[in-house]
Amino acid sequence: MIDFELPPALKMVKEFTHGVGRDTFRPIARKYDEEEHTTAEELAFLGPIMTQRSADRRKKQRDQEKAKDEPKKPKAETEDRIGATMTACVGSEEFCWGDSGLLLAIPGSGLGNAAIAAVATPEQDERFGGKFAAMAITEPGSGSDSGSISTTAVLDGDEWVINGEKIFVTDGKQCEVVVVWATVDRSAGKAGIKSFVVEKDRPGVTVTKLEHKLGIRASDTASIVFEDVRIPKDNILGSPEVKTKTEGFKGVMKTFDNTRPMVAAMALGVSRAALEFTKEKLEEEGFLFRYGLTKHQLSAIEREVLMMEAELEAMRLLIWRAAWMGDNGRANALEASMSKAKAGRMGSEISRRCVALLGPMGYSREWLVEKWARDCKINDIYEGTQQVQQLVVARNLLGYSRAELK
Ligand SMILES: Cc1cc2nc3c(=O)[nH]c(=O)nc-3n(C[C@H](O)[C@H](O)[C@H](O)COP(=O)(O)OP(=O)(O)OC[C@H]3O[C@@H](n4cnc5c(N)ncnc54)[C@H](O)[C@@H]3O)c2cc1C
Repeated sequence: MIDFELPPALKMVKEFTHGVGRDTFRPIARKYDEEEHTTAEELAFLGPIMTQRSADRRKKQRDQEKAKDEPKKPKAETEDRIGATMTACVGSEEFCWGDSGLLLAIPGSGLGNAAIAAVATPEQDERFGGKFAAMAITEPGSGSDSGSISTTAVLDGDEWVINGEKIFVTDGKQCEVVVVWATVDRSAGKAGIKSFVVEKDRPGVTVTKLEHKLGIRASDTASIVFEDVRIPKDNILGSPEVKTKTEGFKGVMKTFDNTRPMVAAMALGVSRAALEFTKEKLEEEGFLFRYGLTKHQLSAIEREVLMMEAELEAMRLLIWRAAWMGDNGRANALEASMSKAKAGRMGSEISRRCVALLGPMGYSREWLVEKWARDCKINDIYEGTQQVQQLVVARNLLGYSRAELK
């Protein structure tokens, strides 16, 4: 049987995160949009809660490791796990309904944290799971083609030595550790790319620039230079072995299978906020939204708003499918990209359309709608742009390799 009801534990996550979005984020959303790069002290209380969630996750992981040694249960009983990705997606939608820049600024909520949760060993999760982690892939010469990165990691005794420059690192200033993508063997191409956890207070780590941005201005976006930064050998996430070309790169790309549905959920939260607010304002003006009529019986505005509501539902179902598959150990690269392609594009369109539907007030800073339109755009860019998601979807559906379809 297919059941689209959230289980009680996720209903609690939804309720809690919605409450924080409504009562903590919304009232300060404009302030931190205007005061870019200022740390929001009001979010400090959320740090220990995120850390506790991380500790719970570690316990769960250890229990699962133990369960591996026990006789296997029938498939139907094992295949309905609610894991970190689904929880993050449900929470992200509600937090972002409050404010997406502030979600990114919560200590412990970084994309690096999702990467650590996805691939760290229990020992690494113990060391880094409670820390605020940013994710650093992009470089001055490497964006969408993340296989072309040039930051290096060289093993020297019991330490890796990291050298390179990363740009547009979300939370790069505020975070405690950075998950850095680097190559251990340039001649091996993509197979040589690995991810490493680098503590920000290591000598040789320097934040060199903070970006002034269109949206999500409550979160900082930084350039970071790594100059002969020495980290312990076991700060590498996953195996240090350089395997075949596809096998090695697939390991690091796997983190996207968790983070892409999360980013899609952020787009959903922001655009849902915009549409709900718009509908509310239009209703105050006397507009009626009638459900259950055929298309030709509806007014143009009713039709448009109802279609946008349907798009939000479609976004959510794609996100939940991708997250559920990932949590239950199924390959979900296709579904993760589908969810992000849909939510990235529709989130941007819906939030922009809401600005227009509200007339001049939609464009005014008095309301948050113009901000939501600015904030939503990033979800169609980072963790892989719209075009890149479409490429991944096409490759997976048509059975083409990266080399055959680029
Ligand atoms: C606010 C912000 C925060 C960010 N945070 C992070 C972060 O935390 N960590 C991190 O590592 N990076 C981060 N980034 C970087 C982001 O992930 C990259 O900007 C993104 O991956 C695109 O890379 P690029 O900017 O180099 O664009 P390019 O790769 O140069 O692409 C430029 C344009 O060409 C299109 N394009 C590229 N390749 C193809 C193709 N094969 N077919 C069709 N079209 C194509 C793209 O879709 C895009 O429209 C952030 C960026 C921003 C703006």
